[in-house]
Amino acid sequence: MKALKQFKTTLKEIKHEKVKPKFCPICNSPKLDRLLMTGILPSIYVCRECGYKGVLTVELEKSPKE
Ligand SMILES: [Zn+2]
Repeated sequence: MKALKQFKTTLKEIKHEKVKPKFCPICNSPKLDRLLMTGILPSIYVCRECGYKGVLTVELEKSPKE
């Protein structure tokens, strides 16, 4: 039953990740469009500001200190 517990935790983490704001790693714009929503593979994001396309995004988990 350990595996099931771990699976549930993973689901929780994925759900939590969706709530985090995502920003473009190039121009830091929050205007990101999600291109793919497979639920298994990482989503691909497209930046509406600079045209960046990729799975990498900047996530803000805590308040910026700068
Ligand atoms: Zn951008």
